[in-house]
Amino acid sequence: MEKILISACLVGINCRYDGKSKVNNDVEALRKYFDFILICPEVDGGLPTPRAPSERKGTKVINSLKEDNTLFFSKGARRALQLAQDNNIRFAILKSKSPSCGSKLIYDGTFSRTLVSGNGVTTDLLLAHGIEVFSEDQIEDLLCKIQLSEK
Ligand code: SF4
Repeated sequence: MEKILISACLVGINCRYDGKSKVNNDVEALRKYFDFILICPEVDGGLPTPRAPSERKGTKVINSLKEDNTLFFSKGARRALQLAQDNNIRFAILKSKSPSCGSKLIYDGTFSRTLVSGNGVTTDLLLAHGIEVFSEDQIEDLLCKIQLSEK
C-alpha cells in the first residue's frame, strides 16, 4: 500500500512541546488508502519533550527562552524528507500552525499567538521536493484527490 507521512501528534503520540498530543480522528479515514509513517520533526531533530515552544523568526527558529533551535528543526526536516524519498511518498498530513509542520499559516515569532502567512520548516523542505503537504483541516481535499485518481 502507498505510504504517507503523518504528524505523530495527530494520532495520539505525546510529542508536542507541552508533552501532549493533538488527536484528530479524521486522520483515521486515510488508513483505507495509506500506510502511515509517523514523524515528529522536532523530536526527530533532537529536541526533548516537553520543551519550550518555538516559532519561526525570519530564517531562524527561536524558542520562548530566546534559544536558537534552527539546527534541530533543520535536522528534523531533513529526516522527514529522507523518509519520504526512501518510501516514494507523495503526500503528507502535517499539523497546522506548527513551526515545523504548519502550512500556509504559522505564528509570527513574537509568541503573541499572531498568525502570519508561512510554512513550517519541514513543510517548506517537503514542498521544495515535490511532496504535497496537507494540514489536518484538509484531509477531505486529499481524500477527494485520491478517490478521483482511482476513477
Ligand atoms: S513537530 Fe509536528 S509532529 Fe511534532 S509535535 Fe510539532 S506539530 Fe506535532
